[in-house]
Amino acid sequence: MRKPKIVILGAGYGGLMTTVRLQKHLGVNEADIVLVNKNDYHYETTWLHEASAGTLHHDKVRYDIRDVIDRSKVDFIQSTVVEIKKDEKRVILESGEVEYDYLVIALGGEPETFGIKGLKEYAFGITNVNSSRLLREHMEYQFATYNMEEEKDDTRLTIVVGGAGFTGIEFLGELTNRVPELCHEYDVDQHKVKIICVEAAPTVLPGFDPELVKYAVSQLERKGVEFLIGTAIKECTPEGIFVAKGEDEPREIKAGTVVWAAGVRGNSVIEKSGFEAMRGRVKVQPDLRVPGFNDVFILGDSSLVINEEINRPYPPTAQIAMQQGEVCARNIAALVRNKQDLEEFKFDNKGTVCSLGEDDAIGVVFGKKITGASASFMKKVVDNRSLYMIGGAGLVLKKGKFNIF
Ligand code: FAD
Ligand code: NAD
Repeated sequence: MRKPKIVILGAGYGGLMTTVRLQKHLGVNEADIVLVNKNDYHYETTWLHEASAGTLHHDKVRYDIRDVIDRSKVDFIQSTVVEIKKDEKRVILESGEVEYDYLVIALGGEPETFGIKGLKEYAFGITNVNSSRLLREHMEYQFATYNMEEEKDDTRLTIVVGGAGFTGIEFLGELTNRVPELCHEYDVDQHKVKIICVEAAPTVLPGFDPELVKYAVSQLERKGVEFLIGTAIKECTPEGIFVAKGEDEPREIKAGTVVWAAGVRGNSVIEKSGFEAMRGRVKVQPDLRVPGFNDVFILGDSSLVINEEINRPYPPTAQIAMQQGEVCARNIAALVRNKQDLEEFKFDNKGTVCSLGEDDAIGVVFGKKITGASASFMKKVVDNRSLYMIGGAGLVLKKGKFNIF
């Protein structure tokens, strides 16, 4: 009898979790499992603010996919997904195509630029290993160039961060640690460096605990960050940005580096493939399948799950993507065994910890507020836990964060 073919697109948190769980649940004779990913490595998206600032080398945030998959059960294809032909049950890849009986789409998200002029061209993103490496090297280039100039342009040393959501704040935490190192390395007076964070909402980290937000702002301000709150980026140019408060006339801030950390949308493959989506995210059924397509599951940043308590979507996080991966694997194993009664996904929120640099953080864990060294310790525990969930103790030993005391 022909074995069903399960194809998983994307080896991020959702896709890799589905893969490693499926390889446990299913025997070699029960199904063919194929994993497709653009790179031959997985990267910890949740550590990219460190690679981007240059406080952690990008090789530390990634590992070889083949190290965590069981190659006797999973076929790995390194290729880029171009389009999903859902009515024909096949996926078009840059290097060919692959057919499926069950499909898992876990291609993650992309930066949301809301059509703001110049952002795609001139701003840097914290999206993947390539974008992080580029941002780190660009900042180093700006520092290195500064001292070569006869007429010094101090705005070369201004770094603007757009968005004070978790990504923007975590990046600022790393940046404030990295800037003194850069100044030392490139013989630059630290007083010449400006770090400006522009946030459109009336507060930093909108929706998060106000007491913890106050702590984060005062810690980052103490380390030199200037916050422009209730101020939106309106345009990005090669020289910097234009910002405006409410209906005010936009004003220019000249900057050598602009980082856009102001939101994510689903992967563009989703819309290109004709799925009904909101900002590239598909509202999935409780069993994580796409309405009308019983053979297609969508997880992670490209999926949309409603928090029934407040009737609003859950923010896209690695925590959700991994939990979805576990449920998705159990549901596909059930379908392979001809069971039609599938499990419903229920998000088990274990809390949120936001790093403020090497040894500081804020968080709410199991309902308890934490700050400082204990929160920073917890953040590293969370980081190590995600390695453990996918690759076990071996991966934690190889890639884990142990500078926790
Ligand atoms: P990803 O983990 O992003 O994986 C997507 C995969 O698909 C990647 O391997 C990518 O290379 C691959 N891919 C993409 N397009 C294609 C294509 N066309 N063809 C083939 N392969 C493709 N969440 C938390 O819960 N806790 C945190 O502390 C946290 N910190 C964060 C810090 C930063 C700096 C950022 C940017 C995000 C953070 N998040 C955090 C959010 C979290 O990282 C995402 O929600 C999570 O990565 C989503 O998982 P995913 O599986 O959907 O996608
Ligand atoms: P976000 O959408 O959470 O925050 C983006 C911020 O940018 C918002 O505060 C928004 O008001 C602001 N913004 C939007 N347009 C703007 C403009 N024109 N000018 C200035 N500011 C503007 O995005 P994010 O921070 O990238 O987070 C993405 C997801 O990843 C979220 O779900 C988040 O929870 C998750 N994440 C979690 C952690 C963590 O748990 N430690 C860390 C990073 C990201």
